[in-house]
Amino acid sequence: MRTLTTASCLAVALAASPIRCTPDVARGDEAPPSHPRADERARMVEEQIAARGVKDPRVLAALRAVPRHLFVPEAERSLAYADRPLSIGHDQTISQPYIVALMTELAAVAPGQKVLEVGTGSGYQAAVLAALGAKVWSIEIVQPLAKRAGALLASLGYAVQVRHGDGYRGWPAAAPFDAILVTAAPPRIPEPLKQQLRVGGRLVMPLGTRSQELILLTRTESGFTRRSVLPVIFVPMTGEVQRQDH
Ligand code: SAH
Repeated sequence: MRTLTTASCLAVALAASPIRCTPDVARGDEAPPSHPRADERARMVEEQIAARGVKDPRVLAALRAVPRHLFVPEAERSLAYADRPLSIGHDQTISQPYIVALMTELAAVAPGQKVLEVGTGSGYQAAVLAALGAKVWSIEIVQPLAKRAGALLASLGYAVQVRHGDGYRGWPAAAPFDAILVTAAPPRIPEPLKQQLRVGGRLVMPLGTRSQELILLTRTESGFTRRSVLPVIFVPMTGEVQRQDH
């Protein structure tokens, strides 16, 4: 399973005129040019991400800074900056770079804000959020993935707390969150996650089973607003949300 945009929306995305972006070097979150594979990351950001309309300079800088190749298995490293999702073992995938960038931009995370991720996987999305200066909590249901991602994130110095478990009920002790990202697709929006958003907070997630869409849910004073962003394909969210369907 993969996180691909459909052929049609990819075509639309590719038709958008490329946007050149100025590195946000002043903020200091840009990798130095000598950093391993920095050139590949710069090309990835320009050709796959800015070209498809992701504009937030802080998001683009974070994608240039995080060494994505360290989050994929050795056998996949040559493809780490390719325009596609990659296998990370245990039938799971690291999302296509564009989807990571898009979800991060939609989450609109300011430095110091609190973010919950459900579906740590490789830890890459969590690292991108941490590179934006967010405080990140991330939950992964497959224990070996949680363990590996937690160790890698810590070794690279990213401020992410990783826990093994079912993310359906969120992380009540750390709530409320300014943003929640879910990187596996449930058939319905998990109610506990909505309740762990602060007013003004954003929930970004794929929704659906065979046919999925990326949605942005924003908590308001009086309820929630919902926007459908893009058709997507993510791995299914497992655990409690599946059992409730029977
Ligand atoms: N964000 C990840 C992509 C992970 S793919 C990255 O950057 O690499 C989706 C992940 O969600 C998988 O690792 C899968 O095991 C996990 N997952 C699925 N259902 C889950 C649940 N109920 N709670 C927590 N994690 C879940």
